[in-house]
Amino acid sequence: MLINAELLLQYQRCQRRPFLDTYGDIDQRDRTNELLLKVQQDRAAHQMSVLSDLTYHQPDYPPRNWQAGAAATLELMQRGVEYIHKGVLLTTYSEVYTLLSCPDLLVRQSGTSDVGNWIYAPVNIELGKRPKQEYQVVAAFHAQVLATVQGVAPGSAWLILRHKQSSYQVDLGKWTPHTQLILAEYIQVLQLTSEPEVFISRQKCHLCHWYSYCYGIAQSQQHLSLIPGVTPGRYSQLQALSITTLADLASTSPATLANLPGFDGDVAPKLILQAQSALERQPFVLPSAPRRDKITFTAPIELYFDIESQPDLDLHYLLGVLVVNRLTNTEEFYPLLAEKPEEAELIWRQFLDLVCQYPEAPIYHFCVYEFDTVKQLAKLYHTPYSVVNPILTRFVDVYAQLTQSVTLPVESYALKTIARWLGFEWREKEASGAKCIYWYDQWLETGDRSLLECIQSYNEDDCRATRKVKDWLVNFFQNQV
Ligand code: SF4
Repeated sequence: MLINAELLLQYQRCQRRPFLDTYGDIDQRDRTNELLLKVQQDRAAHQMSVLSDLTYHQPDYPPRNWQAGAAATLELMQRGVEYIHKGVLLTTYSEVYTLLSCPDLLVRQSGTSDVGNWIYAPVNIELGKRPKQEYQVVAAFHAQVLATVQGVAPGSAWLILRHKQSSYQVDLGKWTPHTQLILAEYIQVLQLTSEPEVFISRQKCHLCHWYSYCYGIAQSQQHLSLIPGVTPGRYSQLQALSITTLADLASTSPATLANLPGFDGDVAPKLILQAQSALERQPFVLPSAPRRDKITFTAPIELYFDIESQPDLDLHYLLGVLVVNRLTNTEEFYPLLAEKPEEAELIWRQFLDLVCQYPEAPIYHFCVYEFDTVKQLAKLYHTPYSVVNPILTRFVDVYAQLTQSVTLPVESYALKTIARWLGFEWREKEASGAKCIYWYDQWLETGDRSLLECIQSYNEDDCRATRKVKDWLVNFFQNQV
């Protein structure tokens, strides 16, 4: 059985993933989504830009014929070429497994090995900005396989990251033993007779092609990972106490959890109330909720604000503001849009003009991103403190107010999940913040105006959804006796 770096990388993110990749029913996999394709395209483009500065060789072999690839790579290594792109390295492991390594580059270095009066070192070109653990494990994996092929361990392995001019040296002394441990654990998982337990985590699952399959299982089991706040670490603690179902958690006393690691502060009562919300399908007021008069209110004129950004370009290209005027009974949405990156400052000035027209109006937003971005834009465009500070003091984070005061019967406190629970629907069914990044890229590339329209409609709906949540919160507290 083949074990490659990709499987090892996925294993570090989720134990279940390589098991399903190896034994799962391929018909249950989701179609490759646009976002994953974009990540793959970006990685390929990043690799090309790095490789464009190098004169490299690439082994020639029929697709997926790894033995032929390994032989062609060995021949290049024996010739002593300086760079080999996508070389194929094979070695056996624990008799029944074959390790397959295809580092992005093999780089010739001084030394002596079985292939000549030189040695090779592996280099991987990654899209991330930081040398994450998973990248370093993969680099150590390449080094381990390479050592068996050239008969001597490379002295180093390297990562070339995004936005980094120089490469990052992986500490093989540290990461090789760690990689061997992960490899041994990975093989144990492959030897299981049934799938490892599901654990849904938005961060690791959202781009996974098993998401629908796993999510279906988690829902049918009412799995605790669907309760906001149940992290893998907390889940292990709960399992150790045999708290494995929603009903178990909902009927647990906070005192039972209070002294466990990860349950300090108000985590335990909040988590239990969260489980009760899910079980009874209704919202509850948190015991630690602020006084009712500290919670948001309804103002004669209210602004709802949402930003779309393109992080790769360091660009905030859409500042969307919904003005709700209860005095005139009107609503107007202002999509302040930079059609070209050069217009970013112009829309910032338009934003300042707009919000200054309503100096008393609270500016509602969902999560801290809008607040932080406005501070950042003020700094970038040298907006005086005296101008931006009165604006920032009007910001009201609906997410913060909500999560400090209630639990809801939802699987996450993302705007989409909460607003949908309240019956709100986005006009662009497939849209998301990440999709907007992709669409804006496509707009810059193709000039297809329908993409801008999709982004604007999504942004407007985000503002309207924020309003829906804020209005619900006000009404909910008004109706509490
Ligand atoms: S969806 Fe999540 S739990 Fe399922 S295999 Fe993928 S990462 Fe693992």
